Amino acid sequence: MPTKTFIKSLFREELTDKLAGLDEPAYRTDQVLQWVYQKPTDSFDQMTNLPAALRQKLAASFELNAVHSLRIRHATDTTEKFLFQLHDHALIETVLIPATPGLTSQSDRHTVCVSTQVGCAFGCKFCASGLHGPKRNLNAGEIVDQVVTIHRLTKQRITNLVVMGMGEPLANYENMLRALKILNAPWALGIGARKITISTAGLVPGIQQLATEPMQFRLAISLHGATDEVRNRIMPINRKYPLKDLLAACEYYCSTKERMLTFEYMLIDGVNDTLEQAHKLGAMARRLRAKVNLIPYNPVEGLPWKRPDRDRCKMFQHTLKTHGIAATLRIEKGTDINAACGQLRLQHEGAA
Ligand code: SAH
Repeated sequence: MPTKTFIKSLFREELTDKLAGLDEPAYRTDQVLQWVYQKPTDSFDQMTNLPAALRQKLAASFELNAVHSLRIRHATDTTEKFLFQLHDHALIETVLIPATPGLTSQSDRHTVCVSTQVGCAFGCKFCASGLHGPKRNLNAGEIVDQVVTIHRLTKQRITNLVVMGMGEPLANYENMLRALKILNAPWALGIGARKITISTAGLVPGIQQLATEPMQFRLAISLHGATDEVRNRIMPINRKYPLKDLLAACEYYCSTKERMLTFEYMLIDGVNDTLEQAHKLGAMARRLRAKVNLIPYNPVEGLPWKRPDRDRCKMFQHTLKTHGIAATLRIEKGTDINAACGQLRLQHEGAA
């Protein structure tokens, strides 16, 4: 890894301090930040309103780019998937999901799905990200730069974030939180905290810690099973933090935040799609006043799992509705570009 500081890892006041160390006045901070975030460029040389000597100092002290775009895949539904290379050549994936006009009133919404780790240690049985095990945490600059680079390359204003890419965000807590605070800051991209959703496989201590943060992030729990029996089968983390503990942590989160909780529930054929699971999930969601997102499983090459047919998914959704639960059946986006986490990287590494 480079020894220079990643400029996108820094808070505004930290950059001011660093610039002071280079004998630069404080007013330079906002000039530099403009080029880093508001009209982003990938080269200090292009910061044309800064004196050449300052541009040289910046280039000698800071790393401007943390991610390098290797490949972009466009899906027919306008989802775009980016394969990024990091300084140590590790690969991560990031997805841009524009709102589909007609499906939602907010057609100007652009959501970026960011990764927080290279690989993943949690080994959920259905997921491509964990197949090669964990590699490392991303630093804050690497998380921030996924969003800035997509903003720079597509010229889209990014309005929403979901921390649902590769990795377990709560297992990289400090870097993730720093990155989200930077992305939220008005001097950076100004993405509202309520427009940021953090998704976890169920890391109970992380949920408890997040509950104490003042920022109003939305929390999504990757539940995927309404009993310990089903969850144990597909998510090893459930053996450490079983449902009872997970739900208690969710309740604590809800008691400190006014925002609602979301349960992500991926439907896998013959594994978690019985009506018994639907009734249990319905009761659980009702108790926590959680919303449920149903996602038909996105098949991963080499793994045995399949998605249930459409009727079965609809039945599951209908059963939840009988409990008074608002359950959406996610309209698939990006299936034709392998947008499920870890799939593009897997393909690229497999081919390499
Ligand atoms: N580690 C975090 C965030 C990353 S995964 C978490 O578990 O929440 C983002 C979501 O995609 C999770 O709900 C995960 O379970 C789900 N997912 C993983 N592989 C999938 C696949 N093949 N099809 C559909 N959803 C998948």
